[in-house]
Amino acid sequence: MRAGTFLAIIEEIKHENTVHELSVAQNIIDLVLRHVPAEECGRVHAVRLKVGAAAGIVPDSLEFSFAAIAPESPLRNAHLEIIRVPFRVRCNACGTTEENELGTALCARCGSGDTAVLSGTELHVTEIEIAEPAEAAS
Ligand SMILES: [Zn+2]
Repeated sequence: MRAGTFLAIIEEIKHENTVHELSVAQNIIDLVLRHVPAEECGRVHAVRLKVGAAAGIVPDSLEFSFAAIAPESPLRNAHLEIIRVPFRVRCNACGTTEENELGTALCARCGSGDTAVLSGTELHVTEIEIAEPAEAAS
């Protein structure tokens, strides 16, 4: 089996239900490398990422994975900043909007399954922060 082969991604991070945070971290690095010119990669300071509560990602584990592999990549000075997005559901039966951490799509007030998921399944890079050359030199 060959190691080190990764599929190219567009904007959203590809992930499976049983996700490995290390491969997601590698996908994030690959995404940034496609958006940032090679000569600026060493100045990438932060990568901001939205992670929904029901995205199937453990944020702490993803941060740890990113911190483990970024120093060996062109993004050697980058760290991950995770914005946690709550799982929110609006009930079409009673009109309630609820947040929960479990990713339950049932209405907590009336028990209806006629609900719309408003947020909490996202997993995408929202911002790449690049330091000024003067800052990086100091
Ligand atoms: Zn309801």
